[in-house]
Amino acid sequence: MTDYNQVFENNRKWVASKTATESDFFEKMADSQSPKYLYIGCSDSRVPTNEIMGLEAGEVFVHRNIANLVPNTDLNVMAVINYAVVHLEVKHIVVCGHYNCGGVKAAMQPKDLGILNPWLRNIRDVYRLHMDELNAIPDEHDRYNRLVELNVQEQCINIIKTAAVQKMYTAKGYPTVHGWVYDLKNGMLKDLQIDFEGVLHEIQKIYDLTGSGLMQKD
Ligand SMILES: [Zn+2]
Repeated sequence: MTDYNQVFENNRKWVASKTATESDFFEKMADSQSPKYLYIGCSDSRVPTNEIMGLEAGEVFVHRNIANLVPNTDLNVMAVINYAVVHLEVKHIVVCGHYNCGGVKAAMQPKDLGILNPWLRNIRDVYRLHMDELNAIPDEHDRYNRLVELNVQEQCINIIKTAAVQKMYTAKGYPTVHGWVYDLKNGMLKDLQIDFEGVLHEIQKIYDLTGSGLMQKD
């Protein structure tokens, strides 16, 4: 119970520290939000979203789930993307995975994990898509970490397949989609350098939802 009450003590201190430097901090925050970033990350407690980016309250719209997945039938993540793109008009969408991801590791275990099965199955699908590359990595730890990167890449592609992103980008030139991996061992963020334009062009051969043909280069 002491730990639980400590949270409220921490909260009071935090409020005091915020208002000490900016007395109307919370009044201004309550007015509206216009974050430039949508962050989709893993629920893992060791990845403190705002802290690792050095961003304050109001600067990043956040969605987190186990293993930072973007399944096209998940109403939750799809609603978050739609709201962030269409209403908040975020400029960047980030999928941030992390090395040593328990979700990614669990997904590849030959076990029945109940309700986690359909969720984690998305990761097995990523493995199947990149099986040759992954099977060629002899060290198990390295193989999982590469799967973490490939999972981020595939979730970025899933975001680019959405109508919201395709239509907004065609109309306004944003948002762009980025894939990152956070390293728990040193706190560093790695940008996977997803070629947004290239991926968009490639996937629109099959997944074009704009009908405008504006992205068709050949
Ligand atoms: Zn994770």
